[in-house]
Amino acid sequence: MEDREASYYERLEGGAVRCLLCPNLCRIVDGKRGRCSQRENRSGRLVALSYGRTVTLNVDPIEKKPLYHFMPGSRILSIGPNGCTLTCDSCQNWGISQEPAPTRFIPPEELVELAAKEGSIGVAFTYTEPLLWFEYLKDAAPALREHGLKSVLVTNGYLNEEPAAEIVPLIDAFNVDLKSMEDDFYRKWCGGTGAGPVRRFIEIAAGVTHVEVTNLLIPGLNDSPENIGALVDWLAGVSDEIPLHFSRFFPQYRMNDRPPTPRQSLEKAYEIAKQRLKHVYIGNIAIGGTENTYCPSCGAEAIRRERYRAEVIGTAGQCPKCRTGLKGVWE
Ligand code: SF4
Repeated sequence: MEDREASYYERLEGGAVRCLLCPNLCRIVDGKRGRCSQRENRSGRLVALSYGRTVTLNVDPIEKKPLYHFMPGSRILSIGPNGCTLTCDSCQNWGISQEPAPTRFIPPEELVELAAKEGSIGVAFTYTEPLLWFEYLKDAAPALREHGLKSVLVTNGYLNEEPAAEIVPLIDAFNVDLKSMEDDFYRKWCGGTGAGPVRRFIEIAAGVTHVEVTNLLIPGLNDSPENIGALVDWLAGVSDEIPLHFSRFFPQYRMNDRPPTPRQSLEKAYEIAKQRLKHVYIGNIAIGGTENTYCPSCGAEAIRRERYRAEVIGTAGQCPKCRTGLKGVWE
């Protein structure tokens, strides 16, 4: 496979380059790689090392992404590159996002064939940071669309505005991980520059396509009522119809000495968010009915979920009782 030149970089003096894809804006000297480990300066040419190379390949329920308002009950071929633009201490997939891992190359045309063969609705680019696959996504997503297949991204949303505006229209649905509203959180715990670029990414994506947001609640770091209130207020300002998933933290990676998120923090977050948002969910723990979709008008149950199984009650996208339309992509 030939090397792919990376998009979004500039040449600097002395053979160095600056990568302009994500807000890290790495200055990379000849022969070295950026912080994500996937973009390398070869004699003043920036190369996208991860193009089409996946660390894993599975067919997952769409509910696992999680996407709850996008073709419920369907299955989707899921792949992801090695590497990430952030270095979160809490990373749940650090073995493939923060360490070198073996990969398999899948050209876009083979990806289309695989997705069609697996009885999948398309491809979820997920597990690590799929925006590192910027060049691959630009080739694969239109090819999938041409064959009636969907492209889904599960992402940290940590991308600069110009590439975001270019990639978003090619994708059918996003789940964006908004870790905190605080810049300090991104700096201290994720190795990023701040929360602003992620918020901007969500705004851009929500204006164009289907978006859901996930917030991993880490005890003592971002689970106070003030933290939750700020995030919910901001998200409601973008749209109160964006589904918000609170996810339970389990000790991982460099945060393996922290306790799991207490049930009460998740319940409190759910209660706060329900006051401003139409669709709120709790994941990584079963808390009576918080994984179900309820009609925002009359409160009737519209989609019942158990683990990764979904049962639509009546007609998808519509309240079975009062017929109010529910925001989402249903078929
Ligand atoms: S994608 Fe981000 S982390 Fe990777 S080289 Fe470019 S600026 Fe650096």
